[in-house]
Amino acid sequence: MTETVLETEGLTKYYGSTLAVDHLVLKIPQGCICGFVGRNGAGKTTAIKLMLGLLRPTAGSSRLLGCDSAALTPAIRQRIGYVTEGHRLFRWMSIAELEKFQRSFFPKQWDHKFFADMIEYFNLPKKRKIKHLSIGERAQVSLALALAPNPELLIMDDPTLGLDAAIRRQFLEGMIELIMRQGRTVLFSSHILGDVERVSDRIVVIDKGVLRANCSLEEFRTAVKKVTLSFPDSPPADVDIEGLLHCRRSEKELELILIGPADEHIAEWAQRNGAEKYHIVKMNLEDQFIEYTAPPNHRRLFQWEEK
Ligand code: ATP
Repeated sequence: MTETVLETEGLTKYYGSTLAVDHLVLKIPQGCICGFVGRNGAGKTTAIKLMLGLLRPTAGSSRLLGCDSAALTPAIRQRIGYVTEGHRLFRWMSIAELEKFQRSFFPKQWDHKFFADMIEYFNLPKKRKIKHLSIGERAQVSLALALAPNPELLIMDDPTLGLDAAIRRQFLEGMIELIMRQGRTVLFSSHILGDVERVSDRIVVIDKGVLRANCSLEEFRTAVKKVTLSFPDSPPADVDIEGLLHCRRSEKELELILIGPADEHIAEWAQRNGAEKYHIVKMNLEDQFIEYTAPPNHRRLFQWEEK
């Protein structure tokens, strides 16, 4: 049986009257790369800080590697890697000094060769001070520092924020390198759905603090569908198709966002309701995410008016 490495139970956080995380019930199995996605302000950073015991929940609890987040022991913390949003590192230290400092917290498990190899792979000058590194270089140091203790669970909050495409790819390859060391688990938040699609095998979607999906990436990719249908006259007033999330209509067309129905079911519905044509639109993960988290009845976001 696959072990659960991260688990939350009714995890809730209010900041004053702002509900940031709303009764989150989550289980992440060992050995997956999990993309944690949600729009700005959805509650990702708050949820991550709660999971790591860096914030106190208003209600509920969470467990990492079987240990309550509010009481993570030093021994458990040594098995967890954390990359913060913005890569906060001591600016006055050089890369080599920072490694020495960090290593002192992991005397038994620090893999110096792995750290040195990553620094070389990223082509970083070991003697350069953190304050003189670019944002992307700091991100690379952050990742090397998080991976060198060989953590069983790596949690990263928007680790590729501000990185160019090539560096992002290098960074993510570093992550894959980690997961290839058997049984490792990664949870990373990101706004770049293309990256999530490329490296994750699991996806967690949070929206306004509420969990909206926690499944394999494949399941999500298969489930969220966009269908356009055209009719000789007005489309049916009552759209009673299974799994309907959004319905947008124009004079003779319907655009439906559906969760879950089989293609045959869509074909049968289209025929039964007199559609002339229908088309299941191929969407990438970003399109699926935007549609999935769109507020009900939203219309096109913005239409530029030419003067
Ligand atoms: P982003 O993708 O923009 O980084 P996020 O999904 O990480 O967003 P959070 O930073 O967890 O979202 O914020 C969730 C909500 O909680 C937001 O409405 C935010 O304004 C609010 N919030 C976060 N931190 C605080 C705080 N210290 N005090 C008050 N409100 C906060």
